[in-house]
Amino acid sequence: MTTAVTSAAREAMAKLYRASEPDVLKPLLDRAAMDGDSRERVMGHALGLLADLRAAQSKGWVNQFLQEYRLNSSEGVALLSLAEAFLRVPDPETADLLIADKLGDADWRAHAGKSNSKLVNSATWGLVVGRVLVGEGSTGPLRRLISRAGEPFVRQAVGAAMKMMGEIFVMGRTIDEAAKRMRRPENRGFTASFDMLGEAARTHADAERYLKAYADAIDAIGRDPAAGHSISVKLSALHPRYEVARWSECVPALTEMLAGLAEQAAGKGIALTVDAEESERLEMSLDIIGAVAARPSLKGWDGFGMAVQAYGKRARPVIAWANGLDRIMNVRLVKGAYWDSEIKRTQVEGLADYPLFTRKAATDVSYLAVARDMLDAENIRPAFASHNALTVATIMEWAGNSRDFEFQRLHGMGDGLYERLVRENGYHCRVYAPVGGHRDLLAYLVRRLLENGANSSFVHQLADERLTEAEILADPVEKIALVGGRRHPSIPLPVDLFGAEGHRNSAGLDLSDVASLATTVAAVNAPLPPAGGAGGGPVDLATASADMPSPNPSREREGSEVAAAIGRAHAAFPGWSRTPVEERAACLERLADLLEENRDVLMAICVQEAFKTIPDAIGEVREAADFCRYYAREARAKLQPMELPGPTGERNTLHIEGRGVWATIAPWNFPLAIFLGQTVAALVTGNAVVAKPAPQTPRIAAAAVRLAHQAGVPEDVLVLVPGGPEVGAALTADVRIQGVAFTGSTGTARKIARALLDDDTRPIVPLIAETGGINAMIVDSTALPEQVVADVIASSFRSAGQRCSALRLLLVQADVADTVIEMLSGAMDTLTIGAPGDPATDVGPVIDRAAYDRLMGYRESVRARWVKTLGVPADGLFVPPTLIRIDAIEDLNQEWFGPVLHVATWEAGTLSETIARVNAKGYGLTMGLHSRIARAAEVAEAEAAVGNLYINRSMIGAVVGSQPFGGEGLSGTGPKAGGPRYLYRFCAERAVSVDTTSAGGNATLLSLDEGGI
Ligand SMILES: Cc1cc2nc3c(=O)[nH]c(=O)nc-3n(C[C@H](O)[C@H](O)[C@H](O)COP(=O)(O)OP(=O)(O)OC[C@H]3O[C@@H](n4cnc5c(N)ncnc54)[C@H](O)[C@@H]3O)c2cc1C
Repeated sequence: MTTAVTSAAREAMAKLYRASEPDVLKPLLDRAAMDGDSRERVMGHALGLLADLRAAQSKGWVNQFLQEYRLNSSEGVALLSLAEAFLRVPDPETADLLIADKLGDADWRAHAGKSNSKLVNSATWGLVVGRVLVGEGSTGPLRRLISRAGEPFVRQAVGAAMKMMGEIFVMGRTIDEAAKRMRRPENRGFTASFDMLGEAARTHADAERYLKAYADAIDAIGRDPAAGHSISVKLSALHPRYEVARWSECVPALTEMLAGLAEQAAGKGIALTVDAEESERLEMSLDIIGAVAARPSLKGWDGFGMAVQAYGKRARPVIAWANGLDRIMNVRLVKGAYWDSEIKRTQVEGLADYPLFTRKAATDVSYLAVARDMLDAENIRPAFASHNALTVATIMEWAGNSRDFEFQRLHGMGDGLYERLVRENGYHCRVYAPVGGHRDLLAYLVRRLLENGANSSFVHQLADERLTEAEILADPVEKIALVGGRRHPSIPLPVDLFGAEGHRNSAGLDLSDVASLATTVAAVNAPLPPAGGAGGGPVDLATASADMPSPNPSREREGSEVAAAIGRAHAAFPGWSRTPVEERAACLERLADLLEENRDVLMAICVQEAFKTIPDAIGEVREAADFCRYYAREARAKLQPMELPGPTGERNTLHIEGRGVWATIAPWNFPLAIFLGQTVAALVTGNAVVAKPAPQTPRIAAAAVRLAHQAGVPEDVLVLVPGGPEVGAALTADVRIQGVAFTGSTGTARKIARALLDDDTRPIVPLIAETGGINAMIVDSTALPEQVVADVIASSFRSAGQRCSALRLLLVQADVADTVIEMLSGAMDTLTIGAPGDPATDVGPVIDRAAYDRLMGYRESVRARWVKTLGVPADGLFVPPTLIRIDAIEDLNQEWFGPVLHVATWEAGTLSETIARVNAKGYGLTMGLHSRIARAAEVAEAEAAVGNLYINRSMIGAVVGSQPFGGEGLSGTGPKAGGPRYLYRFCAERAVSVDTTSAGGNATLLSLDEGGI
């Protein structure tokens, strides 16, 4: 019975995961609706709660804070970003820069002394002092005083202000301190659920530390079970790779760890709740929770529980699932804390729809509907976590006289909301109480303030004096019914991300969905038929390399085949260039659709021929489709004849035309995306193309060309010439070639440039070259190490380091180098190196034996400098990801195109000089900066001589139309691929000027009216 209930619930979840918002909301609206009498009573309760909340505002620090520093004010933003970074900066020099940066522009004095809260005021005064000291030049009296008293004074003032902010939200630095604080009079009647603070684990060492912290906390709370306190556990803290792709590894491991903690809690007689995290983790967490719930050792213990997020479209079946477990479950209903990041991730990954609601009122409706289900459920002990008076009042209405549930709130928030309910009305309330040091606290604090500082949030609205009570307590059911449950108009579906004017975004694949992951894994690993086989549909595509020449043709044969290919294209060019741009653009759009329709087989070829991992293979197909759609749109908009001004009696027009036959020469590392990107840009501008893929990846190119023909590009307009350097040489040496688009090494680009100039009789033709780089990332001591490490791992080891944008040289400020390198080494340990078609693989093999030998030889030659390296499978071309220390930036002078990362340090205060030293290498492709100092970002923007600068993010994954890609200096000629100026370089411009008077007078001039007089 239970299994039937839980599996039906899981099926319902799968259906709702990315279902359309109105469809999901319809039954929820019915469930959350109430009659007039109920609504009246709810309003009565809610107004009472509102009054209590307002009365408590004189004590409520968060309300004070939100009132004083609105998040949309420059002071609010400055304060949050200062709070987030300040306490982790070890060196005074950077701390001062950070203070100057954050306090420099804000008007703190306007706030000083205005608030009723002593805490807000003392924090403000700290900031005013800081501002005066850092912001008003070096001549003011205070500045002079400080130059004598010393800069530490400023730091101390700001540090004290930041700590004060922290204390509001942290219950204690240790569990004992926190438990003691719970005994204070202001917490009388409340119980606590303690939360051990910290980021999600990045390394196994982090995870072990968190596991121990939880176990110690359970011991400590268990010393006084009668106090009724409990513990909250985050699964992401217990495993550094709590990801769907690692399901088979992390789910069993986490099940064991959670079961251990649960058994310990059961033994002590205290309750344990599993926090709710990102939506893609929900299914895994249910497997873990389900397995722990079924442990015989936990039979009879009623303390096990989980949190459920109402903003998720699957909330209702999750409740049904929990109710179907064969035991009592404590369920904490929350609205959800990851709303902004979930929306962004869905857009970035191009998924079909959002897993959560896009309107705040929809979340409220869902919360109320789900709450009702929980109150009716047989096996659920409900806990309702909210600071929203209307939400709380509605639950009171539905619960009637029952007190068989609890409310919950966060420590530091919602003061005043529950005091009367607990002390006079017999309700229970638990406080979610973070425990930990201030450093760990601040990221948590910023999260909470962002969450509750949003305009739509209840706490924010409460602090907004312009809003009436009726507005604050407006019925969410009515609001949502009014808009028919439709999605928020400012949050488009990912497919429409680029707007009505922009190109259609490519479709991603939801690898967090287990079913979709399984289908994808089967598809990419299905054996490809041998090249040249016959057949139709996808198989046909996989065998498309049939028309390739044999592997070792003679030089003459190659020469003549290339000449013949160019001849065909040359003959086809005039017809194609006369084809209206609209038709050419439509071919590209059809090609994009065909790429998506044939995604499975294209991904399989990418995985099996180019050793792309599954996410990289998806990225490859998406980027190719994006190029097609983006250039189609660009061509329509930009290739139209342009009327130009001139004297009367003259008509001036600028026409943009194709130049002739282009050679496009592609690399193996983006064998579909770059191969097609270059090619379709040349095609849509009216050129014919002879396209040469890399010798390592002919099949994917053949498949792409076959699809292009299917999309309507005539066969002679796009001709494929597979082969190695000889084919390339024959191609570029032919005088009929009117332009070359090349992506590959700087050395080959140079050879092509020379070849194009070799023949004195030949026109000088354009060369678009995209080449490599010695890409650096600069990290200062304000950066968040966890974020840095995640971005470094992605930038340097994803795609086995075989991206031109990949990070080659990590430059860490000396003061934090040890911490960052230690965390990075730990994170490297969590990498899986293996077959590219395995979803768990992070790093696959390198492209071929030559690359392998080169990289392994280099790696061996610097063995003494290894900071960290990893073991790899014995069979296959696996280069172990390796971190190599160098003494100076100047010691690295070559691009090592593989999973090899170099690290060096730089001194605080030398950012400009460090950037200049990187620039001096002469390459200019990508650069990264991790810093919380806005001024540092400005310096990098102004001084980094690179085509693509990435600030506080990874350095890979440029998106067509958002981050046009390409370098300068030794890294390429430009213009940028996927950018608004790319197409022009493929074109000839023709200006036509016609004297319209020559045929008998200037009719335009003579027919002018009197100009309004
Ligand atoms: C005791 C306790 C434990 C918690 N544990 C967890 C947990 O385990 N996991 C977790 O994720 N969160 C947890 N939270 C945080 C919680 O999810 C909410 O963020 C927070 O409580 C705010 O909700 P509210 O009802 O107090 O405020 P309200 O202001 O009524 O609601 C704010 C919430 O609405 C949602 N929202 C905002 N804008 C939109 C929009 N445009 N479209 C859709 N929804 C929107 C967001 O979820 C936001 O947090 C917990 C909160 C408490 C009090």
